[in-house]
Amino acid sequence: MNSVDSLTGFLNRFGCFHTAMRLAAEATGNRQTFAVIWLDLDRFKQINESFGHLIGDEVIENLATRFRPCVSGRAEISRVGGDEFVLLAPGFDRTQALQFAAELADIVQEPLHIGSLTLRPTASIGIAIHEPNEDPLTLLERADHAMFAAKSKGGNNIICSGDEPIPGRLGVTLAREELSIESTLHEALETGGFCLHYQPIIHADGTVEAVEALMRCKLNGENISPMKFIPVAEKTGVIIRLGEFSLLQGAMHARTLHDAGHETKVAINVSRAQLVSPAFTQALHAALLCSNVSPNLIELELTESLFMDISDTVQQNLKEIIATGVSLSIDDFGTGYSCLASLKDIPAGKLKLDRAFVTVLPDDRRALSVVKAVTQLGHELGMTIVAEGCENQQQIDVLLEAGVDAIQGFFYAKPMPDSELLPWLKARSHKI
Ligand code: C2E
Ligand code: MG
Ligand code: MG
Repeated sequence: MNSVDSLTGFLNRFGCFHTAMRLAAEATGNRQTFAVIWLDLDRFKQINESFGHLIGDEVIENLATRFRPCVSGRAEISRVGGDEFVLLAPGFDRTQALQFAAELADIVQEPLHIGSLTLRPTASIGIAIHEPNEDPLTLLERADHAMFAAKSKGGNNIICSGDEPIPGRLGVTLAREELSIESTLHEALETGGFCLHYQPIIHADGTVEAVEALMRCKLNGENISPMKFIPVAEKTGVIIRLGEFSLLQGAMHARTLHDAGHETKVAINVSRAQLVSPAFTQALHAALLCSNVSPNLIELELTESLFMDISDTVQQNLKEIIATGVSLSIDDFGTGYSCLASLKDIPAGKLKLDRAFVTVLPDDRRALSVVKAVTQLGHELGMTIVAEGCENQQQIDVLLEAGVDAIQGFFYAKPMPDSELLPWLKARSHKI
């Protein structure tokens, strides 16, 4: 938005606030309620970036023209931001407002023909119904918040204030942050802002049994933590492209290591969203084919959340993975949705104990008891046990004594760029 647009947006917000004030005063007088409907186009930034601002403007003008007959006589409409409209509908209760919002959503979705382009935009819509004596600012904020909740459900959604999954201002802040991360992810995808770093996993005998591939995202010189961007990528579906990227890059790097004389496995993280898709094994086959690496040098790390419900597609994917010769490990074990019953059904050869059990060692004797019990259980199921997040020698000592087979953690090495891994492996093999 340029400065004139933002000024217009401000004035419109102001105007809409005044209308809300007037309606609130009237509502108090005649005990009639009214609705605020906050409509925000989904991915409008992408339309602007892909086709230019002139097309973006045309989309908005077209929609405003289409809204007119539907809105006329029922509500007052203002454009309060680049792609945001607020409607104030006197006399509307929740059911009527939901019906009205559904009509608006249908209007937005009708194909828009602009020159040779056909666009099918969608909108996220939040609704708030005025409560007795509620001040207009709070009311508008509730509608805005509901709209963000609709957006964070993936867009093309209508949510009534009070039905949002995350209550309060915190939710608004989180939703805004998620949106900004989502747009960063798209930008980073277009500009090659992703890469993998590798963290060694050291066997009790001192050899490097594997390296874990961990995704890094850098945009405009700023690093964004995977703890922040992976959950957003999972929510928005971007994880499918990121997952394909890490499968391919990870497999290529396993091949590079092999060619340099290191039979070191590369462990690649796989999200639930990838594994529930029937296309997953295709992506895996493609990565194996392109890299021409032996499948036994690839391991896939699956998080425990997969255990929540193992659908037929997931079962089928797991079977096909094993059939390729790629191995499986269970990541972050012990903090998520551990289900011992399904543990026996997952054909994994490795179990990775979550860092939460390790950081409290050696002092926390109860945590150590859990580590020992899980290690024994894992061994009985034919699995090897890796402890994640080891930062000091005392932790390593108690873990190895508890029977853990391998260690991963900053004590040995932090995740490093691919260019540093080979020299690191070389230096390490000299030490053994
Ligand atoms: P994870 O798979 O459990 O990876 C281990 C995380 O623990 C990494 O965090 C690693 O840097 C960190 N770590 C390892 N040793 C230590 C230690 O001694 N101390 C501390 N404080 N931390 C340690 P990172 O790289 O920030 O990744 C976080 C999570 O993001 C990963 O947890 C994984 O769940 C996810 N992730 C990373 N890359 C990918 C990816 O390519 N695909 C998917 N689906 N998820 C990924
Ligand atoms: Mg992992
Ligand atoms: Mg882990």
